[in-house]
Amino acid sequence: MGDSNKYILDESRIPKAWYNINADLPVPPQPVLHPATKQPVTPDFLSVLFPMSLIMQEISTERWVEIPEPVREVYRLWRPTPMYRARRWEKALDTPAHIYYKYEGVSPVGSHKPNTAVAQAYFNKAGGTKGLTTETGAGQWGSALAMACSFFGLGLEVYMVRVSYEQKPYRRIIMQNFGAEVHPSPTDRTTFGRKVLAEDRHCPGSLGIAISEAVEVAATSNGAKKYSLGSVLGHVLMHQTVIGLESLEQMELAGEYPDVVIGCAGGGSNFAGFSFPFLWKNLTAGKKTRIIAVEPAACPSMTKGKYAFDYGDAAATAPIVKMLTLGHTFVPPGIHAGGLRYHGMSPTVSALVDHGDIEARAVRQLATFEAAVHFMKSEGIIPAPESAHAIRAAMDEALECKTNGHRRTIAFNLSGHGHFDMMAFDAYHQGRLEDYDYPEERVKEAMQHLPEVALPGC
Ligand SMILES: *Cc1c(COP(=O)(O)O)cnc(C)c1O
Repeated sequence: MGDSNKYILDESRIPKAWYNINADLPVPPQPVLHPATKQPVTPDFLSVLFPMSLIMQEISTERWVEIPEPVREVYRLWRPTPMYRARRWEKALDTPAHIYYKYEGVSPVGSHKPNTAVAQAYFNKAGGTKGLTTETGAGQWGSALAMACSFFGLGLEVYMVRVSYEQKPYRRIIMQNFGAEVHPSPTDRTTFGRKVLAEDRHCPGSLGIAISEAVEVAATSNGAKKYSLGSVLGHVLMHQTVIGLESLEQMELAGEYPDVVIGCAGGGSNFAGFSFPFLWKNLTAGKKTRIIAVEPAACPSMTKGKYAFDYGDAAATAPIVKMLTLGHTFVPPGIHAGGLRYHGMSPTVSALVDHGDIEARAVRQLATFEAAVHFMKSEGIIPAPESAHAIRAAMDEALECKTNGHRRTIAFNLSGHGHFDMMAFDAYHQGRLEDYDYPEERVKEAMQHLPEVALPGC
């Protein structure tokens, strides 16, 4: 106990229920709006895209939602995941802080994403869905869902951002190994894809475009296919809470409780999954842990975006939600953390940032890779560039403790390994990585394309 490096739980400690923060939200949830009528959507509208079980989870206010046994059985392949005390890194940083990290890179595809992929595949199968469509950026989400679909016998069609499809073939091949069909987006298979290609034949694609294509295919499949999203939505965040629930127990084993909890945030799912159980203790048990969400300065939805109603996708065909957004017309700069390039942020995380329960922080690309390499030299794990944003923030907190002599306990989520991101590390070592701060003017410009929403009381 006293001088352990890692805290391992037995398989029987895999949580039996997910934590649903809707039960404890300090602010009322905002409605989800129809993209055309701009009025609140009905479960019927959403049921074209999602099975009813997941829609009910989305709107549920029950604090605990039971994890079905077949899902826990798959979780057993890699859960519970380890929690480490970064003793060697603490020494290298010469900090009085205690640093802990939860490691989700031990899953078969190397990130936290299977936690929800397995649950979504299970509930779709149970609801009679034959196949799923989805989008993927660098392929983290696509490979997680491809594995889950193969486990539960579902077909899968993946729309993969074209530039990643061409430059990052490894995860595409993983998806194909699991039996998924992978298309470089924009494609000529959808109305929206053809429209984008007509305007720019060499369009490199974006997550927003790929979402539009995957949604279109599911929505026009006459019920044969449903759509699956790897982040942003409430049920996705909830499935990820197995991370934080295990972490609560592991911190107890370590005999400490975190003063600071940190996660990187793209759509917000690994951050929420790790931090919401700690936030639950803040909201209901008098704990005062600082909860920090970290994003790239190049895609600063939380620190520079506006808290407003916006479309979930580029084509303005997905539902409108209230979130911190850079505008659905946002075209992400080519930074190496592909998983952190979405134009918005999960509505739940956005509401909690807006309300002051969560701190938001942006870090630059070079400082992020510097922290990743520094961490790796002590702890040995090669982090995903996305996860490195959390490492940067943890490092800054630890250095602040050193400067001011604070003995704080810092815990962060290491959302995945970076074994397929070697070209990004290569670019860093060769001095080819650049910092980029997304300009305020571009945010202002994009705000003019937000949907006009007139709702009583909003
Ligand atoms: C996809 C991904 C992210 C970002 O997605 P969130 O939904 O914000 O968690 C972060 N880290 C890794 C390793 C990822 O694959």
